[in-house]
Amino acid sequence: MWRISQTFFVLITIFVASVWMYYGELSRKRSFLLDQEISLSEKGIGPKKLYLTNEEWKKRLTPEQYHILREKGTEPAYTGKLWDLKEKGTYLCAACDLSLFSSDTKYDSKTGWPSFWKPIEPLNIKYEDDFLMFANRTEVLCARCDSHLGHVFEDGPPPTGLRYCMNSLALKFEKEFEGSK
Ligand SMILES: [Zn+2]
Repeated sequence: MWRISQTFFVLITIFVASVWMYYGELSRKRSFLLDQEISLSEKGIGPKKLYLTNEEWKKRLTPEQYHILREKGTEPAYTGKLWDLKEKGTYLCAACDLSLFSSDTKYDSKTGWPSFWKPIEPLNIKYEDDFLMFANRTEVLCARCDSHLGHVFEDGPPPTGLRYCMNSLALKFEKEFEGSK
């Protein structure tokens, strides 16, 4: 009996050490985006925060929006309203109306999700490590209300080489009217 529990203990220790080393390695590989965000937040600049309770968010958002924005959901590809939109305008956070992306930086990534190569204002975006399903992805959040918007990948077009892969449900489109620029 003692030998079995001793073996079990050793196996658990090896498992915990492996997981710890795996995540340590991933966090050392953190993309420059996270470093950039940390340096900005250290300076204490960025949009004024908006904090609401889950109940308040539920009143403000549709159940589908709530799932994406507040529960980090992902809409199925090619189902959103914005992936194929080519009109000129601004994409806002669907939860708090903060300006996030311009149609000038939108491109067809052939993924079925609205994709951009740059945010309107770096301070309006927040990044976090996402280890879901053991994939090291960089999550993109709204810097004002901390809502989940999508992910950013480093396989986008020039000049940034970034692909901000967003959920249509996380965005609100504001059309640019003639003479508004
Ligand atoms: Zn927001």
